[in-house]
Amino acid sequence: MARAQRVIPGGVSSPVRAFGAVGGTPLVYRRGEGVSMEDVDGRTYIDFVCSWGPLILGHAHPEVRAAIHAAVDRGTSFGAPGEAEIELAELIVGWYPGLEQVRFTSSGTEATMSAIRVARGATGRDAIIKFAGCYHGHADHLLVAAGSGLITFGHPSSAGVPEAFARETIVLPLDDIDAMTSMLRKEGHRIAAVIIEPVPANNGLLLQRMEFLRALRAETERAGTILIFDEVISGFRLARGGAAEHYGITPDMVTFGKVIGGGLPVGAFGGRRDIMRHLAPLGAVYQAGTLSGNAVAMAAGIATLQILEREDAWRELEARGAALETALTPVLANAPFPAQLVRLGSLFWISLQGGEPPRAASAVAAEAADRYRPVFHAMLRRGVALAPSAYEVGFLSLAHTQQHVERLRDALAESLHESPTTA
Ligand SMILES: *Cc1c(COP(=O)(O)O)cnc(C)c1O
Repeated sequence: MARAQRVIPGGVSSPVRAFGAVGGTPLVYRRGEGVSMEDVDGRTYIDFVCSWGPLILGHAHPEVRAAIHAAVDRGTSFGAPGEAEIELAELIVGWYPGLEQVRFTSSGTEATMSAIRVARGATGRDAIIKFAGCYHGHADHLLVAAGSGLITFGHPSSAGVPEAFARETIVLPLDDIDAMTSMLRKEGHRIAAVIIEPVPANNGLLLQRMEFLRALRAETERAGTILIFDEVISGFRLARGGAAEHYGITPDMVTFGKVIGGGLPVGAFGGRRDIMRHLAPLGAVYQAGTLSGNAVAMAAGIATLQILEREDAWRELEARGAALETALTPVLANAPFPAQLVRLGSLFWISLQGGEPPRAASAVAAEAADRYRPVFHAMLRRGVALAPSAYEVGFLSLAHTQQHVERLRDALAESLHESPTTA
């Protein structure tokens, strides 16, 4: 890490990796296989982060590796239409409810940024709504979070984002039907899009009530505002048709990333044909990418999605998630502080607070982060890698078995009782 910090800011290529939220020095890894990651000192860890979601089959899955190798042998990128991107687009369009066209990008950030540009171009409106606690990548107008208060007009949550950009982003609280309804009824005529993680998983796991998502669908339709589901995490993880299938609610546009790249850099955004026709070369909304749809990333994505379908992965992941919940619930009930498991399918969140599971960012208790720090380090000493932040969720893959769930349970049972001073 000392070497890394000399040449890379903070020593990391993405900030949460720096352990800022938990303290201590990040580990540097050199290998991953199945559920296991090995650091440069030769210690191994059971990985419950899975590269933050993409590794739904575990590290270095043999068939994904073979697909990548075969693609590399045929040439990595053409800068022209390729067979593989058509195949992956057909899979995605075929599986996701109401989706007619997609375009590939190289990250989730580009996907959400581009989806919003299309929504603005298609509606001729400038403002957008996002929800506090939802993360949509790091594009300027999306790096805006709520302050306190019911409704906040956007203030940037990063330096370097002009106030003028953030002003076009209205931030609302999750789980608040009245705030959302009154904003859309009053201001809908100038709101191009509402973007939401239908399964908010970047501020803990803030599971939404079906009524809230249904009301959001109805009110956006009424306002002529485009509803964008950001399924960068939930897409192809929660169900074949993502959260849209899980909740039975069809958005106008959708963004993907993570799982669809099988561990390589891929994002995608799409929607109905009447919306996507605004995108260049058909329409006036510009968007492009030198390596977008490149053959290697597409091959990894295709292999991953095919394996998910063949293995009936969504049922299997739900079964493993249920087993994890059964294993961890009594352990958390025995913690020296309030603690609970929040879970949907293969996404789980160890929430170190009491009461109802939080459904909005403002309901996440600050003490939870203090409690999490020593637990995180105690787990790592026992060879179990959780996310280095109380606000990040855990991910299960098809490589995790009952034995790994039991290792997690046993390590957690000890770690919860270690006092912070021994951390
Ligand atoms: C990870 C994530 C993004 C951003 O994707 P990157 O590939 O990291 O740019 C966008 N939206 C959600 C919901 C995410 O979890």
